[in-house]
Amino acid sequence: MSSGSSNKEFGSKTLYLRLLAHVRPYWKQFSIGILFIVILALTEPLIPMLLKPLLDGTFVDKDPSYLFWSPIVLILLFLVRGSSNLISQSAFAWVSGKLVLDLRRLMFDRLLVLPTTYFDTHVTGNIVSLITFNVTQVTSAATKVLMVLVRDSVTVLGLLAYMLYLNWKLSLLVFLLLPVIVVVVNVLAKRLRRLSRELQSNMGELTHVLEETVKGHKLVKVFGAESQEQARFWDTANWVRRLNFKQKVADAVSMPVVEGIAATMIALLIYVGTGQTGQEPLTVGEFVSFLAALGLLFPPIKRLTGINQPLQRGIAAAETIFGLLDEAPELDEGSVALGRVSGKLAFRNVNFTYPLGEERALKDVSFDISPGETVALVGPSGSGKTTIAALIPRFYEAEEGAILVDDQDIEEVTRRSLRDNISYVGQESILFNDTVAANIAYGMDRLPEGSELRRVAEAAHALEFIERLPDGFDTMVGEDGVRLSGGQKQRIAIARALLKDAPILILDEATSSLDTASERHVQEALKNLTENRSTIVIAHRLSTVEHADCILVLKQGRIIEQGTHADLVDQGGEYSKLYKNQFSNESE
Ligand code: ADP
Ligand code: MG
Repeated sequence: MSSGSSNKEFGSKTLYLRLLAHVRPYWKQFSIGILFIVILALTEPLIPMLLKPLLDGTFVDKDPSYLFWSPIVLILLFLVRGSSNLISQSAFAWVSGKLVLDLRRLMFDRLLVLPTTYFDTHVTGNIVSLITFNVTQVTSAATKVLMVLVRDSVTVLGLLAYMLYLNWKLSLLVFLLLPVIVVVVNVLAKRLRRLSRELQSNMGELTHVLEETVKGHKLVKVFGAESQEQARFWDTANWVRRLNFKQKVADAVSMPVVEGIAATMIALLIYVGTGQTGQEPLTVGEFVSFLAALGLLFPPIKRLTGINQPLQRGIAAAETIFGLLDEAPELDEGSVALGRVSGKLAFRNVNFTYPLGEERALKDVSFDISPGETVALVGPSGSGKTTIAALIPRFYEAEEGAILVDDQDIEEVTRRSLRDNISYVGQESILFNDTVAANIAYGMDRLPEGSELRRVAEAAHALEFIERLPDGFDTMVGEDGVRLSGGQKQRIAIARALLKDAPILILDEATSSLDTASERHVQEALKNLTENRSTIVIAHRLSTVEHADCILVLKQGRIIEQGTHADLVDQGGEYSKLYKNQFSNESE
């Protein structure tokens, strides 16, 4: 996953330390977790240790005190183990839950202050999965690694010590053979992992081919691509089959191999343990106890040797998380806090290039808007209209030149106070899945009075349809406002802008996605909104900007003409051509 150009490469150590720093507030619960996994691990060698007196004392010698105590000790042991496990698991689950919450909050807080360029260069899905998925990956990997490192290494050491104590000669034999098993098991496991990865990617490919064919079935039919698609599908399906088969075989191979080695080992142990090499034979209890310890040794060793996998996964995920947390927020160096401005706006020789753009998007753009005036931006798509609008709330920073609000360079102004003076209605109105009222009052500290809501809704020509909704202003609009039509959503967005009552208003193609009937409604609503406000209106249909106080005609980032509608038509330049074109198109 590309996690951004500004990401540093982290050393693993820095990553651990940073992660630990986030665990620090919960060090008590964390220590309890560690304490109880150590207890759990230490009790593991007790199981084979108990077997020896249990077998020798109880079954062979029938010693009355052993007969009495062995079962009791056994039950106690499992009680201790059970509760240690419960306590440590709960402690870790609690700590990692807190950690996930803290990291999610931090990431979300950072997301809110990131510059627009971050969102331009990152895929939404990736940002979302960073906060939903990657965080939990880090904590689950960290918990797993920690459990394995602490519990399994203590267990292994304890078991080995016990085996050495029981019979060092047999133990040495085991130590010689153990690495063989570990290596064989790891080789097999690696092959299995590789196969399952391949299988996964081939399954993905299969799904992909299927989806394309289903979605594009009309295309397949018209272009006679049946045999081509068939070949593609058969090939992939056959690959899936082959990999599946290989995986099954690889899986099946591991059992006889591991069991074969284990059987050889046990055979050797029996040979040596029964004294056939001329030494003192082991008692039944000793022998079974030794074998049990050996059996218990395998799973933790297997986990320890496989620890690299969750470790790497966790590191990769942690890198992406800290990468986001380290993204630079929007600069906010301005110190002047604007009050409510009069709405005087000026661009002075502004040049601008998008961080990822090759060409200048704005070239030497200068214009003035007096308080309360409406200025229209027209020009072909890609000429820079939206870019001009985006520079005013400082979504991007002008490269050269200056933008002045009430004669104040906006770079010297705090972002908050600048944005408090600006309202915006775009082509697609963004509604949140909340009530109509909450959508209109979006960003306000508290819901305004009902009468206030009705006033702005009425001015936005929205009252009529809102009142017809099942719960009026309390109706939930649904995800993305699915329960409303495009024109209704626009009117709610206009009501929102009316309520904010900012002196500067930006309308970027606010009516472009509407049909003629709803456009008429929205146009009337907009009339109320633009009154007494400095307005920048971007519109595709020139008929909607005819009445602007000034029209700026843009071409390839440059203002090529400016004036009133009548002036520009008289001049007979680019605008009059555009106008005539559209006029004749529309009258057709
Ligand atoms: P308009 O609104 O007039 O259709 P824009 O202002 O959106 O045009 O775009 C002006 C130019 O800037 C276009 O060439 C466009 O490709 C480019 N552009 C727009 N947005 C971005 C962006 N986020 N990153 C890079 N280039 C962009
Ligand atoms: Mg645009």
